[in-house]
Amino acid sequence: MLSRRRALCLALAALPVSAQAASPLRVMASFSILADLVQNLTGPRLRVAMLVGPDQDTHVYQPKPSDLRAVAQADVLVVNGLGFEGWMDRLAQAANFRGRLIVATAGIAPRQTPDGGTDPHAFQSVPNLRAYIANLRAGLSAADPDGATAYAAAADRYLQRLDALDADIRAAWAPLPRARRRIITTHDALGYYGAEYGVDFLAPEGFSTESEPSAKDLRRLIGQIRAQNITALFLENISNSAVLRQIARETGVKIGGTLFSDALSPANGPASTYLDMMRHNTRLMAAATR
Ligand SMILES: [Zn+2]
Repeated sequence: MLSRRRALCLALAALPVSAQAASPLRVMASFSILADLVQNLTGPRLRVAMLVGPDQDTHVYQPKPSDLRAVAQADVLVVNGLGFEGWMDRLAQAANFRGRLIVATAGIAPRQTPDGGTDPHAFQSVPNLRAYIANLRAGLSAADPDGATAYAAAADRYLQRLDALDADIRAAWAPLPRARRRIITTHDALGYYGAEYGVDFLAPEGFSTESEPSAKDLRRLIGQIRAQNITALFLENISNSAVLRQIARETGVKIGGTLFSDALSPANGPASTYLDMMRHNTRLMAAATR
């Protein structure tokens, strides 16, 4: 079956198509996780770039002059949406972007934050990723109709890998009592993960990395950690860790490692793809709550 699909792709690629389809589609993804997803749908048809790189914080990103040029030249712009890239509208407007915009979270029912806002981190739930992939596939196929068959085949292959990932995450948590699954992270990025897989997360920095908690917030949180039997604290690759280290000192709760929340690791790190990131985070968190 695989070889038949490959043969079909080769046959399509060999067809004399328009000059535009012959050069790869230029896709600009807002951040590293989206760039990885797009890369999984491409083959040689796309040239994928990203604005916010590995280990970088999308919430507080400040576009560079070179981003303006890169966005202006892109055929497709891929964003998460739900307010994750607060700076994107202005950038796209300043770049006079006239290509196709793909909003990866389109159609996903957003989770509300405790203070009534919208939680943008929908990618932290594997079932939500099915919608991301469907939106990417539809958007890329609309921008490049000659590639539609290739995008559909790649999407199907990736969805199977997502199903396996989802089953592995559920299996990792299954033996751990619900009452032990209480974790603190440096910013509240894992709400969708917690809702999907039955883990309680508390976060000292609220829902954005833009603000530091006040002394009063911190005292309240330390009280909560003691009262609520928190099992583990985790650092994040994109956040300042000083606050969390202070909490660990004052409460005696252990730091379980570094989670990748809003950005992948560089290529030589433990979370350089979405699939690796989810497995890495799950492994660390499940080990710490054992
Ligand atoms: Zn975040």
